[in-house]
Amino acid sequence: MSEDSNDLRTASSITFDQATKMYPGQTDPALDALDLNVEAGELVCLVGPSGGGKTTALMLVNRLVELSSGDIRLGEKSIGSLNAIQLRREIGYVIQQTGLFPHMTIADNIGLVPQILGWKKASIRNRVHELLELVGLTPTDDIAKRYPGQLSGGQQQRVGIVRALAANPPVMLMDEPFGALDPITRAHVQDEFLALHNEIGKTTLFVTHDIDEAIKMSNRIAILKPGGKLAQFDTPDTVLSRPADDFVEQFVGEDRGLKRLSLIPVRKMLNPSTVVPSDKETASLSWPRIERDKSARTALSLVLAAETDGVVVTDGDDVPVGTVTLKELASIAGSGNDAVAGSTTP
Ligand code: ADP
Repeated sequence: MSEDSNDLRTASSITFDQATKMYPGQTDPALDALDLNVEAGELVCLVGPSGGGKTTALMLVNRLVELSSGDIRLGEKSIGSLNAIQLRREIGYVIQQTGLFPHMTIADNIGLVPQILGWKKASIRNRVHELLELVGLTPTDDIAKRYPGQLSGGQQQRVGIVRALAANPPVMLMDEPFGALDPITRAHVQDEFLALHNEIGKTTLFVTHDIDEAIKMSNRIAILKPGGKLAQFDTPDTVLSRPADDFVEQFVGEDRGLKRLSLIPVRKMLNPSTVVPSDKETASLSWPRIERDKSARTALSLVLAAETDGVVVTDGDDVPVGTVTLKELASIAGSGNDAVAGSTTP
């Protein structure tokens, strides 16, 4: 958290060790003996139905809620051993309502924690500009001098995110951060945040009730069921292809096969050992062409629209590199098959 550190890549693991929360007056725990290890730099989504203990789990980390039993560690340090106020300054916290102070400018909002930490004015100004640029808000547009009410919902949420990053915390906690945005803005901000996360690699614990958002954003997904019990902790592909129990299967939805296709780029379905069809052959097939980084779900849409038996996969220069058949797409959409399959011949 040093003022002179321009390295935004610090990250720290988060370990829940039998973490349990029983609120006063309740007979059942809100969070029941949670074991979860979020690796440094990882983005983990906590999902599950309302009342499953997601927000409780998040607020236990920054001690807005105190543990009843068990432990949570940031790196090797137990959160109980740290001063709660200092701990919160070391953790970026983003919530749905952004929490921006309406009477403070964007620059002052973002610079608040560095200011509390005693950074020099010039360092704060540099960091504010650096962070605004990081989320595509050009400081020269005078954004920094405006008040939150003078920005769109999407812009306010971006400011909420960079404010959480201002003092370069090793951990980010995000509670339904994009829940109030319209679907188009939401998709944009999700994409931006993913790009930002790839760039700066902060350990991020992200609460959402939306399984599609979790599938899109996560390295791994933790699914909590009512009673605050962990139902499954796995990669999106494994959660979709091998749900741990009936609860997870129902929660991910009947279209989990299609969701799984959206995670797989068609290039992963090409078998490197088989023959690439010639231009003449692919022309005679009259199959739709798809660029190899596009998803298998897009390939399926093209096949269904063109009523063909497959697609021709191309590189960035529209040169064929193989084919994927409808049968291969269907077999991956069915559960339990490996993502890497298929052949390059029809
Ligand atoms: P989620 O974020 O998954 O919706 P929460 O963590 O908000 O779940 O809540 C988990 C459970 O704990 C719920 O049954 C909720 O009613 C209860 N709960 C949350 N906060 C409190 C509180 N301050 N006092 C008593 N019970 C609470």
